[in-house]
Amino acid sequence: MAELEGLEFGKSDFVLLDEVTMEQFMENLKLRFEKGRIYTFIGEVVVSVNPYREMDIYGKEVVEAYRGRELYENPPHLFSVADAAYKTMKRRAKDTCIVISGESGAGKTEASKYIMQYIAAITNPSQRAEVESVKNVLLKSNCVLEAFGNAKTNRNNNSSRFGKYMDINFNFNGDPTGGHINNYLLEKVRAWRKVGVEHNYTDLLSGGFFFPQTSSEDRSAHKAVLTALKVIGFRAQEIDSIYMILGAILHLGNLEFATDGESVRVTAPQAVENIAILTSTTAADVSKALLFRTVATGGGEVIDKGHSEQEANYGRDAFSKALYERLFSWIVSRINAVIEVKDYNPVLHGKNTVIGVLDIYGFEIFDNNSFEQFCINYCNEKLHQLFIELILRQEQEEYDREGIPWQHIDYCNNQIIVDLVEQPHRGIISILDEACLGVGKVTDVMCLESMDSKLGQHPHYTSRKLSPTDKSLEFQRHFRIRHYAGDVTYSVEGFLEKNKDPLFQDFKRLMFNSTNPVLSEMWPEGRLDITEVTKRPLTAATLFKNSIVALVDKLACKDPYYVRCIKPNEVKSPMLFDDARCRHQVAYLGLLENVRVRRAGFAYRQPYNRFLQRYKMTCEYTWPNHLMESDREAVEAIVKQHDFHDDVEYGHTKLFVRTPRSLFTLEQERAALI
Ligand code: ADP
Ligand code: MG
Repeated sequence: MAELEGLEFGKSDFVLLDEVTMEQFMENLKLRFEKGRIYTFIGEVVVSVNPYREMDIYGKEVVEAYRGRELYENPPHLFSVADAAYKTMKRRAKDTCIVISGESGAGKTEASKYIMQYIAAITNPSQRAEVESVKNVLLKSNCVLEAFGNAKTNRNNNSSRFGKYMDINFNFNGDPTGGHINNYLLEKVRAWRKVGVEHNYTDLLSGGFFFPQTSSEDRSAHKAVLTALKVIGFRAQEIDSIYMILGAILHLGNLEFATDGESVRVTAPQAVENIAILTSTTAADVSKALLFRTVATGGGEVIDKGHSEQEANYGRDAFSKALYERLFSWIVSRINAVIEVKDYNPVLHGKNTVIGVLDIYGFEIFDNNSFEQFCINYCNEKLHQLFIELILRQEQEEYDREGIPWQHIDYCNNQIIVDLVEQPHRGIISILDEACLGVGKVTDVMCLESMDSKLGQHPHYTSRKLSPTDKSLEFQRHFRIRHYAGDVTYSVEGFLEKNKDPLFQDFKRLMFNSTNPVLSEMWPEGRLDITEVTKRPLTAATLFKNSIVALVDKLACKDPYYVRCIKPNEVKSPMLFDDARCRHQVAYLGLLENVRVRRAGFAYRQPYNRFLQRYKMTCEYTWPNHLMESDREAVEAIVKQHDFHDDVEYGHTKLFVRTPRSLFTLEQERAALI
């Protein structure tokens, strides 16, 4: 709890609000933003509002001010969280993690960079070369992933977005020894044709390689990525391959089909030639994969079946997305191979500990919510569940350590919503998967009917059957989930296709047969013949679920720290605090619930000596110095004099105060005296 700032900047910890209401929360958040205070605590959680301007608060002096200090000694900052996570990891040899969430553009990635920079700045004081090189590669890998994973579009559903989890390993000295990255790619290059041509990934392509006329800014961004790739250890052939694949994706975006009578053809054969060159295949093979698919007939015969124009369009887009996705996963796996901790001997080097940094999209609700929002929001339900579980565990552990009785904490348990989505056989994902397996033409609406009949009674699912009077179009193609953060209506349109995410085997074989070994390596299953392809690949929702379950398992065994990011407006303005937009995010990030849980036990806690230091002037027995046996007794004297003895518990080293009101009295009195 930071107390160093005056109240004119608002309350530096939301726990100190008079009442936990949206109004009070917003008032404080806005006041602080307007006063240039972009960070505020909720206990140990940091709430951040994107300033949309350069802040002079990340420099060397600031790092020094936060280094090794306790949370309440400084104003709230990302560095408070980074330092707390690092300290716990080092002092208690515990794995920790920092979860950064918020919507697109809220400042998550910037936050994760500052946190990594902070950790890099406070480690390896003796500047050992091998540690410096590990740090360098870890920082550079961020730059590469950002370049590939983030589409620079204005906030819209078309940008390709991803969640990233990075483990940083430390030796017993607390110096980084390596790391590991997991990526949670959700939206692939959806509508590549539209986005791609406008702006997508141009950072990478614009270095004069594909767009010779681009700005010098683009060129220097491109140079930075290229340098980063080299520093990480990508070989020249690999770097060339990356650009060639991106080029092929670009040319696929320019490719169109036309129908002549019975047959479909490519309108601009030059694009096919270019794709063949860039993928080290032949134009004939590329053309064939684009226009035909190999099917096995009932009699075991293999024939080439021509695509309709619509199928060809679909195939091209699926191919382009898959190329991008494979490339991205491959880059991540290459980076991982480089940063993996090698030759670590726990006997020689001591216990290896980890700080995990998760940069992941928060709860989303748009005007039109689709499969992607469904996945993101499911992910956030899981993270919320973990959050509550871990916060409660942390509280319990602290009470145990301090020898005070356990206080029951009321909270909203969202297990039921998680089950609604992920339960085997009965959950939404299972129903979706079942529909995807269906023979014949199963439509999105048929799948919706199946969900309605199986889940119609579920308290968190609203089916159109339950609203027979609601004849609005909405309920014909939509279902609604009551999430912990609010109701979201999803349009079922496209769910099945996005879940199935099929790619014709012909493309896989084409890529596997590329004479470029780097490319071929990305498509191992292209080796299979059509008659050997029997196993259905897992669906997108199931893959996503599996990866989120694995992520939650990873996080669950760590001490968590949280950063909640808020985007103050839609126009990237440093001045504007859009009340409605912020309110919406505060609700969806579950921040009020967070304050409530935090206050449910004890709103405030502080070591006796600190408490004394701050408030000794308010009590005759402690000013200027006390004559008692211990600081604890002196604190007791203060508490008794101010008449809130019933509102506290005395731990071994800390005072615990239940309601913030008691503290206000003290603060006021203190303010009157100084
Ligand atoms: P997200 O990862 O949540 O989508 P980013 O971290 O990429 O969002 O932030 C979007 C933009 O907002 C950044 O490019 C930067 O211009 C601005 N921004 C975010 N955080 C800060 C900060 N702490 N200081 C200054 N500008 C910031
Ligand atoms: Mg980001």
